Parts: sequence; structure tokens; C-alpha cells
Amino acid sequence: MTLHWTHQASDGRARAGVLHAAHGEVETPVFMPVGTAGTVKGMTADGVRSTGARIVLGNTYHLMLRPGAERVARLGGLHKMMDWHGPILTDSGGFQVMSLSGLRKMDEDGVTFASHVDGSKHRVTPERSIEIQHLLGSDITMCFDECTPFPATHEEAARSMRLSMRWAARSRTAFTPREGYGLFGIVQGSTYPDLRAESVAALTAIGFEGYAIGGLAVGEGQEAMFATLDVTTPLLPQTHARYLMGVGKPDDLLGAVRRGVDMFDCVIPTRSGRMGRAYTSRGPLNLRNAKHAEDLRPLDPDCDCPACRNHSRAYIHHLLKCDEMLGPILLSWHNIHYYQALMRRMRHAIQQGRFEDEAARIEADWSRPE
Ligand SMILES: [Zn+2]
Repeated sequence: MTLHWTHQASDGRARAGVLHAAHGEVETPVFMPVGTAGTVKGMTADGVRSTGARIVLGNTYHLMLRPGAERVARLGGLHKMMDWHGPILTDSGGFQVMSLSGLRKMDEDGVTFASHVDGSKHRVTPERSIEIQHLLGSDITMCFDECTPFPATHEEAARSMRLSMRWAARSRTAFTPREGYGLFGIVQGSTYPDLRAESVAALTAIGFEGYAIGGLAVGEGQEAMFATLDVTTPLLPQTHARYLMGVGKPDDLLGAVRRGVDMFDCVIPTRSGRMGRAYTSRGPLNLRNAKHAEDLRPLDPDCDCPACRNHSRAYIHHLLKCDEMLGPILLSWHNIHYYQALMRRMRHAIQQGRFEDEAARIEADWSRPE
């Protein structure tokens, strides 16, 4: 059987389930730490596992440039290369081609672009993107698509979405079905309900092992993102996993789980960690702030990660002031641990039929003074 998702419980539109993949089972709702270039930045694979994370994301764009997809395959695949035994989802490279590379030229067949690393020329088509993800060995392959920029007119968004739907059909044909592996389609259509509906209809007619919602968290704001989810998730099959790409902050995750999303990925826990920011059950903290200089309390009184168990805010503030690498490492560790704990808490609440009560408690704590 190919990769699939089984439903366990619903509470309102929020869902709990299990993703069955070649490299193991993953309970949803789930947050996937991002291992951009074959590493979740600043973390060992054991460290990532210890936070409770069971699935990570790898970036096709970064890995195809360095060390190269064929080289990853010769090294035994991405799982072996990064010592990650659980499932891996790879993105298609489309988003980074648009956001990071220079001198892009897009046509009906694919995209030619210059590497942001050395300026070398590369070409990605839907077929090549699927081949690269196969070489990496990812459990979940994503269709190659164009992430529609925001804002876009209805006409621009329609043109972009329809191109992505043609590329989705080509991605489906190029994908080799294997036991425990799957291909996800990506719903596009910017913030236009009619285009989102057209995109869902096109993808479900092709048929995928899961459905992602793309083109959000690109500057439209939380209200427009939630409004788009409100018109999109009810159209998606109840029987398949739903993945909101590139989202987000803790309150984005809560609002999207409430709207029926099962899977998330985002660089925020690690990127914020490198910038001195911690997400906690009492809201965000900026550890660079001088007010933490003699604060002996842990980052988060409700967290049992190594940063919170063994160290004070004062020590982490000191590490950041001295540019010691342990500072960002401890904050990344805490942030990923906190995200995992938050997802588990929502999952348990869905299973017990008290999601809204728990969500209200979580939201009240975020705004509680420290
Ligand atoms: Zn912690």
C-alpha cells in the first residue's frame, strides 16, 4: 500500500489521525522541523528525535545544488546521510527557485535558474523535481508547482494555479508508486475562493496520497490565511492528510488545526532560535533583551527540554551576548520541543473531544503576564 493517512477522531473541524509511511507512523496533527540542507540547523538527529519529532522536511532546491541529488543517492539517500530513521517529506524546490535563485526563466515546461550559491545554471521541470525527490529517498514527495506571489490579481492567480495543475498531472505521471511512499498535490489559487475550489477539483480528479495547501504565509496576513483555509479544507477529501506549507507561529498552528489541517512545517523555531527568540507557553521571549541578564528562571516553566531543565534565562542571555553558538542551539532545541509539545496537547484534546476548551486555555496562557 502507498503512503496513507487514517482518521482517528474529530472535534469540530479539528482532526487527529496517523500517517503511515515507509519509515514509520506519524501521529497528526504534526509539526515537521525543517532540515533545509540535510540538517535541522544546530541540532543533531538524536536531539531532534528527543523533542518528540517523528518526521522532518528536506529542501529539494538546497540539496540539488549541494551536494547534488545523485551524490545523496550514492551516499545511501537522505535518511542515511543525515541519520534520520523516521519519515522525510521533501518540498519540490519550486518555492526556493522563486524566492532564492537569480535570473529565472519560466516556461510551460519548467524553470531555468541561476544558483544562489555559485551562479551555475540549472533547470527543473516537474519530471526532474520528482526524480530528485526519488533520489533523495523521501517518504512524501511534493508536486512541482509555482508558488503564486502575493498580492496577485485574479487573472495572475488563475494563470499561475492552472499551470501548477498541469504540472501536478505531470508530477503524478512521473512519480513511481512504492510501498509506503506517496505524492502530495498542492492547492493554489491565492486568496480567491473560486480558484481554490477549482484547484481542489483539479487535484482530486488526478488523485494524490495527500493534499497540501500552498501559496499562504506569503504576506497575506493571518486573517486572510484563515479565511482561505475556511473555504479550502471543507472541499478536501476527509480521508486524506492535509498539509499547510510553511506555517507558522504557534497561534497560526492552533488556528489551522481548528480549521482541519493535519501537517505543518516552518523554519520559525530554528530561525527564531538563531535570532534569540523563544516561543513559550507564556508567549514569545526575546533573550537578547537586557531584562533577562539576572533572571534565574527557565525559558518556560512548563517545558522539560534540556535548555529549560538545566539553564536559566540569564545564562542564555549571556551566551547570546557573547555570540556563543550554544545560545542559538539551546533556543532552537527549546523551540522545536515546545512546538512538539503544543501539537501533542492539541492532538490529545481532539481525541478527548475538548479541543476548544484546551485552545482557550493555551491562548489565555500566551497572553498571561510572565
Ligand atoms: Zn524548553
